[in-house]
Amino acid sequence: MVGLFFVVKNQLLLHSCELSQAEKYGDFLNYPESHMEIWDKFYQKKYKVDFDYFPRGRIIYNLKEETYYIYYDKCLEESIKNLNIIPKDKKVKLLHDFHYKCHKCNKNYVI
Ligand SMILES: [Zn+2]
Repeated sequence: MVGLFFVVKNQLLLHSCELSQAEKYGDFLNYPESHMEIWDKFYQKKYKVDFDYFPRGRIIYNLKEETYYIYYDKCLEESIKNLNIIPKDKKVKLLHDFHYKCHKCNKNYVI
């Protein structure tokens, strides 16, 4: 599967779909919705902060390499392996993405 996730107070909020439902961008399969769309739809009312407040990340799939790429906020470094989102019998690359910064990692964050 591919998807995106937020980590709110050590709780994983994962939204994902099968590879057959994913969107193709070049060699990659990507989850069709954005962090902002998902957050506004499901969590904005509950948490009353913007989508980029909590740590987040994305799981995409490279067709040529047959490898999952997991991009995530650097503050998830310790917890990423315990989040249970890494496919066990597949090839995986774990990568930081400077786009994914929560309010703690982004020094310019304005609440
Ligand atoms: Zn962070």
